[in-house]
Amino acid sequence: MRTAFIYSKDFAKFKPPKGHPWLVERSHATYQLCKRLHLLEHDWIHTYVPKPAEAEELLTFHTKEYIRLLKKANKGICEEEWLRYGLGTTECPVYKGVYDYHALAAGSTLLAAELIERDKADIVFSPTGGFHHAGEDFASGFCYINDIVLAVKKWISGKRRVLYIDLDAHHGDQVQEAFYSTSRVMCISFHECGKTLFPFKTGFENEIGRGRGKGYTINVPLPENTSDDEFLWAFDKIFLPLAQAFKPDVVIAVLGADVLFSDPFSHLQLTNSSLTKALESILQVSPKLLALGSGGYVLENIARTWTLAWAIMNGLEPREEDSVVFGGMFWGDGLASLKDRPHFVPDDIKEKVKSEVHRVVHAIENSVFRILKIKA
Ligand SMILES: [Zn+2]
Repeated sequence: MRTAFIYSKDFAKFKPPKGHPWLVERSHATYQLCKRLHLLEHDWIHTYVPKPAEAEELLTFHTKEYIRLLKKANKGICEEEWLRYGLGTTECPVYKGVYDYHALAAGSTLLAAELIERDKADIVFSPTGGFHHAGEDFASGFCYINDIVLAVKKWISGKRRVLYIDLDAHHGDQVQEAFYSTSRVMCISFHECGKTLFPFKTGFENEIGRGRGKGYTINVPLPENTSDDEFLWAFDKIFLPLAQAFKPDVVIAVLGADVLFSDPFSHLQLTNSSLTKALESILQVSPKLLALGSGGYVLENIARTWTLAWAIMNGLEPREEDSVVFGGMFWGDGLASLKDRPHFVPDDIKEKVKSEVHRVVHAIENSVFRILKIKA
């Protein structure tokens, strides 16, 4: 096994406007914690420094006009008419270096895709990636360039079968849209239901693909307050049978840390045990894996969870005594561990969630599983 960690110290230099929740320090914090816990020191592990994607590479998905405007936005000056491209809104503000930051993020994911395509690595992790809301000619939901679509397009032009599994709290709407009519890419997204969370209009269980793509898009909308038990029950029921039937050549996984109960941007009640157990299943069915960070709005959660994920990708168990003191400070409430403590959710809430999750899973079994002839 050969693994690769994509990291650039340049990410942390960018400055989105004050008050914007996007944490540019995500890669740096994850890299530092991995380093401190000796999780980058083995001879099968390589660290790669990414370069910004070339504008031309971005045009395999985005329109010329949109990329032209995003490049202009790099100066930090916005024109009112750009609002129709989603640029200059509160969620996707224009700021100095906005193009450079997102071109570097796309470059990281493309480098990861390349390492896999050229058989230089089996598992690659790029913490600054997973911008699943960016459309071909618009920015949305903190996302400006859709690095996931760019990577998948690179692989399918090489005739690979790609499985996209998105565990971010928000529906991966624009990845779904890009591959809605093809059977070469299977898109599976677990996320908080659009009734209570952005992007609101998509990600329902009845969106299953169209034409040749029918049965190759799978959405598992989770009700607010979903906790580990209900998530892992649904994940086991849905993910493994589909992945085993699809037989991907390569898997791209989006590990959003915004699903955690302590994240302010969703209403889910998961601990990072859900993400890591799901990742263990993903690894079982991935001949090659590209893992991306995506959302997450508490830096400590991001670093702990993605460090834990990196350890699992490498079959390593971080030594807890090493994580007692990190950089001279204790984590959060004094809990000195990468793993979240078990999180309590009252029984009446769990029962309500359980019945909704069962309904969604059965709906998918009655639609997608039937189309693909998979036994429930
Ligand atoms: Zn998210």
